[in-house]
Amino acid sequence: MNPKTGQPIKVAVIGGGAAGFFGAIQIASGGKCSVTLLEKGKQFLSKVKISGGGRCNVTHHCLDPELLSKHYPRGERELRWAFETFGPKDTIRWYEERGVLLKTESDGRMFPVTDSSETILQTLFQEAKRVGVRLETEMEIHSVIPKSDSKFEIKLKSGKILEFDKVLFATGSGRKAWNWLEAMGHTILDPVPSLFTFKISDRRIDDLSGLAFEKAECSLLEFGYSQIGPLLITHWGFSGPAILKLSAKGARELFEKGYDTTLRVNFLPGMKKEEVRKRIEKEKELHPAKLINNTPVLGIPRRYWERILEIHSIAASKTWSGLSSKDLHLLTEELTDGRFRISGKGEFKDEFVTCGGVSRKEVNFKTMESRVVSGIYFAGEVLDVDGVTGGFNFQNAWTTSYIAAQGILSSV
Ligand SMILES: Cc1cc2nc3c(=O)[nH]c(=O)nc-3n(C[C@H](O)[C@H](O)[C@H](O)COP(=O)(O)OP(=O)(O)OC[C@H]3O[C@@H](n4cnc5c(N)ncnc54)[C@H](O)[C@@H]3O)c2cc1C
Repeated sequence: MNPKTGQPIKVAVIGGGAAGFFGAIQIASGGKCSVTLLEKGKQFLSKVKISGGGRCNVTHHCLDPELLSKHYPRGERELRWAFETFGPKDTIRWYEERGVLLKTESDGRMFPVTDSSETILQTLFQEAKRVGVRLETEMEIHSVIPKSDSKFEIKLKSGKILEFDKVLFATGSGRKAWNWLEAMGHTILDPVPSLFTFKISDRRIDDLSGLAFEKAECSLLEFGYSQIGPLLITHWGFSGPAILKLSAKGARELFEKGYDTTLRVNFLPGMKKEEVRKRIEKEKELHPAKLINNTPVLGIPRRYWERILEIHSIAASKTWSGLSSKDLHLLTEELTDGRFRISGKGEFKDEFVTCGGVSRKEVNFKTMESRVVSGIYFAGEVLDVDGVTGGFNFQNAWTTSYIAAQGILSSV
């Protein structure tokens, strides 16, 4: 209650995505505030609906806050502690208490057992209704201005002015909100895309779309980033978890270089170059009469093996006994230190996120309140926080909005 007016504290949550919706529910369930959720679009939760290919990858089954925080190229340090307050275990419990069971896939991603994002949408809507969140769509906001009496004026395009005691910004990567925040004195780190595939035009992978390597080490040498994981050849280059995670790590540098740099692929991570060389040489001893073409080494997919032999002019008719030291060197290099030129950024339709946003230094992650303007709070992708693919981005939305709600509730 506002002690002067005896009225509940008025909170505006701007942005009806995962962070705003969850934050509004958490604030309203505290029973101290009247909460209005303002969404500029026609619908709430539009990204949740299409997320995870329509299945919604709600979170990740990584329950250790320290390990979990390592999945965030931007925000690791701050989220390490935030996850102690509200982590995947809490997300799982929160949904479970509302009748939504989550299942874990072999790679740790968690989805509703219904395999439908509608389940998540319905739960959030029911809960918002139950705790009395006022839901407003098509709210074209013209400006948000802090007033001298510590209140906030939200001016709508229609000219109408609304007044609130606190404002939670959960506007995702909406440029307008960043402009208002800049005008209030916040630093916005330039937004650039994260989570994408690499465009690579190279004879070694031409027409091999669909070919997968279970484990490869992919590195952006120029920027010093590496990632081990499954690698997939696509029509336009490389994709798969290793590439997507690497794109997140190098999102800013790749953008600045116009997505033009060198990718190194070690198709045999865990083995030293010398070991690989010896292992190939051993084939010569063991099977001198066999065709090199017919005996891919170390689990390298046959089509890729044949392709690199072809490219290095190692004839299909050549047997292991004819392997020259030059061939041995070329094969070893190709398998452990393959260099590919990235010439652009490809699409990844399952998940997409923006790197950049409100500077983390200007936010107190214990409350998610701004250190620049008191009374405003942040949650979700509006911040310079983003995770790799796998449910980490929604977990950031649930965690930061939960903490923002507690921050607001403890301040009133
Ligand atoms: C196709 C796709 C699939 C994805 N799948 C997954 C997944 O399975 N798992 C996962 O963890 N992550 C996934 N992500 C990432 C995840 O969706 C985002 O990280 C998450 O939605 C961020 O939540 P948010 O609430 O911060 O922002 P958003 O979801 O972007 O919500 C922000 C909301 O604010 C509104 N808004 C913006 N500006 C204003 C304004 N000025 N006034 C009023 N309203 C405003 C927007 O219209 C929007 O509704 C996916 C992303 C995409 C694009």
